[in-house]
Amino acid sequence: MLTRRCNYRCKSCDVWRGGNLPEELSIDKVRAGLDILHDLGVVEIVLSGGNPLLREDIGEIIDYASKYFITTIYDNGSLAAKNVGILRKADFVAISFDTLDEQRYDYLKGVSGAWKSAMNSIRTLHEEGISVGVSPTISQFNMNEILDFTDHFRKRGVPVLYCLYQHDSLTQPMFQIGEKNEELEITDKEGLAKICDTLLEKKKKSRGILITKKTLHTLRELYLNDRRTWNCRALHSFFTIDPAGKVAACHLQEPVGTIFDLPRLWQGERFKALRRTYNECTKCSYMCYMFYSLHASVQGNIAIITDQWKNAGALFGH
Ligand code: SF4
Ligand code: SF4
Repeated sequence: MLTRRCNYRCKSCDVWRGGNLPEELSIDKVRAGLDILHDLGVVEIVLSGGNPLLREDIGEIIDYASKYFITTIYDNGSLAAKNVGILRKADFVAISFDTLDEQRYDYLKGVSGAWKSAMNSIRTLHEEGISVGVSPTISQFNMNEILDFTDHFRKRGVPVLYCLYQHDSLTQPMFQIGEKNEELEITDKEGLAKICDTLLEKKKKSRGILITKKTLHTLRELYLNDRRTWNCRALHSFFTIDPAGKVAACHLQEPVGTIFDLPRLWQGERFKALRRTYNECTKCSYMCYMFYSLHASVQGNIAIITDQWKNAGALFGH
């Protein structure tokens, strides 16, 4: 997370509700941190916020990160169209976008005009040949239309990268993301399992559905049979970094050091013990963490590359 600053007021999100904004790493420190991640063998990085495009030096950050890593950046759709030049360097630009219904989308985002801005960003980046995808957060609010939503963008050559609505439950996470909201909480679990089944079928026939088969099977099992079939690989195959450079296994766990401590801590006994603890943890089922846990091996990385990135690249023809 590069910044907590955000220009939107989403119903699903706690980021903008937080109190004082944390200090943000300077560009020199971001570069030094990226060097450390590269030396550790990190292959993929996700630049998120808040809205990372609100950082004045985001162009330099993308430029530097994309030399080393598969670099994805998120935007809520408000700023991407105005930043085409700097987004060219990213491997993938994900625009959060949840519904084709303009009024409902503006309601979710808490900002009038959000839908028009997002549609304009998606169209502009796509026309400019930038690898852009839409990233809906599946919730009870938009579940019924998620398959039509998927078809709408697939037909237009824009891949879909899914998130799932969750809210935070621990009392002292590194930072809050998901705000509890009854309107969004998924109550139709069978409905979600059916969506997984349909996406599995659609994946056989066409490209642009950027969620792995393994993730869909795992989600289905979780929602239909309440069975958790993965072990968390936090601090092993993924970790989070806050705007000030603090590192935690995930945003729900306490910080364990800073990005600059990682070379000293990464192979140490304390991190090994923490990995064992997190491996047993069942306190969340955030889909992104599930995904990186399921694909936590060299073979997993190959699966991601073949199932996700090449898929997206082929769709765009570059
Ligand atoms: S979900 Fe994203 S766009 Fe919406 S308020 Fe949170 S950080 Fe901002
Ligand atoms: S299951 Fe993993 S990602 Fe979720 S709270 Fe526990 S350590 Fe964090």
